[in-house]
This record gives sequence, structure tokens and C-alpha cells, in this order.
Amino acid sequence: MSLNNRVALVTGAASGIGEQCARKLASLGAAVVIADLNLESAQKVASSIVAAGGKALAVAMDVTSEEAVNSGIERAVQELGSLDVLVSNAGIQIVAPIEDYAFSDWKKMLAIHLDGAFLTTKAAIKHMYAGGKGGSIVYMGSVHSHEASKLKSAYVTAKHGLLGLARVVAKEGGSRGVRANVVCPGFVRTPLVDKQIPEQAKALGISEAEVVKNVMLRETVDGEFTTVEDVANTVAFLAGFESNALTGQSIIVSHGWAMQ
Ligand code: NAD
Repeated sequence: MSLNNRVALVTGAASGIGEQCARKLASLGAAVVIADLNLESAQKVASSIVAAGGKALAVAMDVTSEEAVNSGIERAVQELGSLDVLVSNAGIQIVAPIEDYAFSDWKKMLAIHLDGAFLTTKAAIKHMYAGGKGGSIVYMGSVHSHEASKLKSAYVTAKHGLLGLARVVAKEGGSRGVRANVVCPGFVRTPLVDKQIPEQAKALGISEAEVVKNVMLRETVDGEFTTVEDVANTVAFLAGFESNALTGQSIIVSHGWAMQ
């Protein structure tokens, strides 16, 4: 698979899953835009992709800000010529039982996961339409797009919501060659998960080892974490898939935690 002459923008690409997605897309020939709240880390990722012979641009972007999203995407198109792939990946996690879940945290979660997906889609899709080549939009869902867990009301709600957004974008974009799909990882050891392990241990009154074994990996077929490479390979497959045969779908990458 080659992504030569394609431009891919990945949000939340300064860390974890997004970073690996950007590296993988660059290794397949795409020029990648590392869009993140954390500009310094985004620049480091972009520099290391360039040092490895790839093409990359770091852009400061808070995905909850319409102005920041629009200006970041305009800059990417101006500097790199088009926008062919969007990976809407930026995300955070806040865990608490619903009776203690702060309304401000609920709104923050929905803003990053859902407003971010909507705003980046809205800004990117017009360039995909205008170029006449269509494009591929990949949303970073989660097993929590299909399953629920305790303490994660906002996250589960937001990740389920991405399935709806992807299906609408698939229908609207189909006649113009824009595909939209959701990748749904199980637990991946990134800063987002490392932060959550002690928080869940405290909230559930169990040890951190028990959180990993009995909460995070209990339902997998082999007790293994999913890796950033597993997720990035799936994103790259969807980014490079050329026809509308694969659109409006979600692919679960979770060591069998969820099977649908
Ligand atoms: P991470 O913490 O390693 O990286 C998240 C990145 O998003 C960071 O670079 C951060 O600066 C950026 N970010 C946060 N808020 C932002 C904003 N408002 N605007 C722009 N960038 C912002 O996390 P990760 O584990 O790589 O998670 C990436 C995505 O994968 C998230 O959507 C997450 O829900 C999803 N996911 C993660 C796991 C997992 O187990 N790690 C599992 C399923 C889904």
C-alpha cells in the first residue's frame, strides 16, 4: 500500500496512538500534519519523521476551538497542497462514578471527543470535496464505542457518538469519494491509560495490578494489551483503502475483548 502524494492530518499526534499513526502514514509516503494541543511535542514528532526521510508539519491545534481547527487545516492545505486523510484521534480520559462526575468534566470530554471530531471533519471534508479525489476519514473510537465500563459515562457516550457521526459522513460523502470509518482499540499502554490505572484502583478499591488484569484485560483472549502499532496499522489500512466498499464501519482491534 502506498500513500505517496497524499496529505494526512492526525489530531493528538504528539503522543501515543496518534503519534504512531502519523509515523506509519509517513512511512507509507504521506506528508503528515502533526496537529496537537502540545506544540512542542508535536514539533519533536515532526522533526523525527523528517529526520527519517519523511515529510511532516507540526501545527498547534485545540480541537475544541473552531478557529484553531479551521486555521490549522487551512495552513496544512496551503503548505502541503491538499488534504486526503483525516485521523480524528485527540482524546483524554476522566474517570469517576456518575454521582461524582463533574458537569464541567462531562462537557470537556464531549468537547474534545465529539466537537473535535465534528469540527475537524467539517473543515477537512470541504478540501476532500474540492480536490475531486475524495478522501478517508478515520475516527479513533474505542471498544467503548460498543461496550460500557463503570466510571466512564462521558467516554462511553462520546465513543458511541463517533459511530453515528461516521455513518452520516459515510452517507454524505459517498457520492464524492469520501469514506468514514471508526477504529476501536482495546487498552493500549499510552499516557492516557497509565494515568488511569491508579485512578481506577482508587475508585474501585483494588490494586493497580488487579486493574490491569481484572478490569482492563480480563475479557481479552490472551491477557495482552493492544499496541500502538496494531492500531496504526489498522488506520493505515483504512486510509489507503480506495473504494466505498469499506465505509461507515467500525473495526475493533482489542485482542478479542469485544467481538461483533
Ligand atoms: P495520549 O494521552 O497518549 O495522547 C493524546 C494526545 O491528544 C496528546 O498528545 C494530547 O496533547 C492530545 N490532545 C488532548 N486534548 C487535545 C485537544 N483539545 N486538542 C488537540 N490535541 C489534544 O492518548 P492515547 O491513548 O494515544 O489516545 C488517543 C486516542 O485513542 C483517544 O481518542 C483515546 O480515547 C483513544 N483510545 C485510546 C485507548 C488506549 O487504551 N490508550 C483505547 C481506545 C481508544
